[in-house]
Amino acid sequence: MIGGNQINCAYCDNEKLSKNDIGLNKKLIHPQIKRMMCLTCMAEYFESTEEELKEMIERFKQQGCALFG
Ligand SMILES: [Zn+2]
Repeated sequence: MIGGNQINCAYCDNEKLSKNDIGLNKKLIHPQIKRMMCLTCMAEYFESTEEELKEMIERFKQQGCALFG
Protein backbone atom coordinates (compact mmCIF):
# COMPACT_ATOMS: atom_id res chain seq x y z
CA MET A 1 0.00 0.00 0.00
CA ILE A 2 1.36 3.35 -1.04
CA GLY A 3 0.19 6.68 0.29
CA GLY A 4 -2.41 7.27 2.92
CA ASN A 5 -1.08 9.87 5.27
CA GLN A 6 -1.10 8.64 8.79
CA ILE A 7 -3.24 10.86 10.96
CA ASN A 8 -2.85 10.83 14.70
CA CYS A 9 -5.14 12.18 17.36
CA ALA A 10 -4.26 15.82 18.01
CA TYR A 11 -5.28 15.56 21.65
CA CYS A 12 -3.79 12.33 22.97
CA ASP A 13 -1.24 9.73 21.94
CA ASN A 14 -3.56 7.60 19.86
CA GLU A 15 -2.11 6.95 16.44
CA LYS A 16 -3.42 6.08 13.02
CA LEU A 17 -7.01 7.19 13.01
CA SER A 18 -9.12 4.93 10.83
CA LYS A 19 -11.14 6.14 7.87
CA ASN A 20 -14.24 5.93 10.03
CA ASP A 21 -12.67 7.95 12.84
CA ILE A 22 -11.70 10.63 10.35
CA GLY A 23 -15.13 10.53 8.73
CA LEU A 24 -16.76 11.12 12.08
CA ASN A 25 -14.50 14.10 12.78
CA LYS A 26 -15.54 15.62 9.46
CA LYS A 27 -19.19 14.78 9.89
CA LEU A 28 -19.64 15.88 13.50
CA ILE A 29 -17.16 18.71 13.83
CA HIS A 30 -16.11 20.25 10.53
CA PRO A 31 -15.59 18.98 6.95
CA GLN A 32 -12.20 20.71 6.78
CA ILE A 33 -11.12 19.87 10.31
CA LYS A 34 -7.38 20.04 10.77
CA ARG A 35 -6.94 18.65 14.25
CA MET A 36 -8.51 15.21 14.31
CA MET A 37 -9.67 13.44 17.43
CA CYS A 38 -9.70 9.73 18.12
CA LEU A 39 -12.92 8.07 19.24
CA THR A 40 -11.88 8.26 22.87
CA CYS A 41 -11.39 12.02 22.72
CA MET A 42 -14.53 12.51 20.66
CA ALA A 43 -16.54 10.57 23.20
CA GLU A 44 -15.26 12.89 25.89
CA TYR A 45 -15.83 15.97 23.75
CA PHE A 46 -19.44 15.05 23.02
CA GLU A 47 -20.02 13.63 26.51
CA SER A 48 -20.83 10.35 24.85
CA THR A 49 -19.23 6.91 24.72
CA GLU A 50 -17.06 5.21 22.14
CA GLU A 51 -19.80 2.62 21.72
CA GLU A 52 -22.32 5.29 20.80
CA LEU A 53 -19.90 6.83 18.34
CA LYS A 54 -19.33 3.44 16.72
CA GLU A 55 -23.08 2.97 16.38
CA MET A 56 -23.24 6.40 14.79
CA ILE A 57 -20.55 5.36 12.30
CA GLU A 58 -22.57 2.26 11.41
CA ARG A 59 -25.63 4.39 10.81
CA PHE A 60 -23.75 6.81 8.54
CA LYS A 61 -22.35 3.81 6.65
CA GLN A 62 -25.83 2.44 6.11
CA GLN A 63 -26.86 5.80 4.74
CA GLY A 64 -24.09 5.39 2.19
CA CYS A 65 -22.05 8.34 3.42
CA ALA A 66 -18.81 8.48 1.41
CA LEU A 67 -16.81 9.56 4.46
CA PHE A 68 -17.12 6.08 5.92
CA GLY A 69 -15.99 2.79 4.52
ZN1 LIG B 1 -7.34 11.04 21.32
